[in-house]
Amino acid sequence: MGCYDMTGTSRAVRDLKFEKGELTIANGSERYILIPLRAYGALYDSIEEIVGDAVSGVLYAAGKSIGRGLAEEVKRRMDERKVSGLEELARDAVKLLEELGFGKVELVESKPEKFIVRMYSSATSVHARKGKAVCHLERGMLAGIAEDIMGKHYVAREVKCRAKGDPYCEFIIMESKY
Ligand SMILES: [Zn+2]
Repeated sequence: MGCYDMTGTSRAVRDLKFEKGELTIANGSERYILIPLRAYGALYDSIEEIVGDAVSGVLYAAGKSIGRGLAEEVKRRMDERKVSGLEELARDAVKLLEELGFGKVELVESKPEKFIVRMYSSATSVHARKGKAVCHLERGMLAGIAEDIMGKHYVAREVKCRAKGDPYCEFIIMESKY
């Protein structure tokens, strides 16, 4: 579980295609941009400054859209390897997050109605030390990936967060009727 080679090269980065100033992974239709983690931190702070605690909802919603786009790449990889199955899907999804630079990601549990994922150096937690859970973007991304792949509604909660002193961030992604 989670024993990925963190010292090797990132497949997502290796497969990045650069054409006419646009980045895509392999032949996917989803475009990517590279931004410094510091820029993401500044974005988080700006949103929080303007909307206050609603930053959680804003970034959760944004994360969900991003997650749906990432699911496309996960499905592409599954097709390429001609594999299927929930465990494989969930593993490919967390691996992709690692390859995109979200730090070490571990899949703790994968059932159709409930996934548990740990992140050891999530982008948001590295930036923020706020005494509360802050990884709303990551939380949204996980829910978005699950929704797109499973074709159902999911809600993700962050039950542990490095920003409040926990050793890692832990997310529970539960199927929801709404
Ligand atoms: Zn966190």
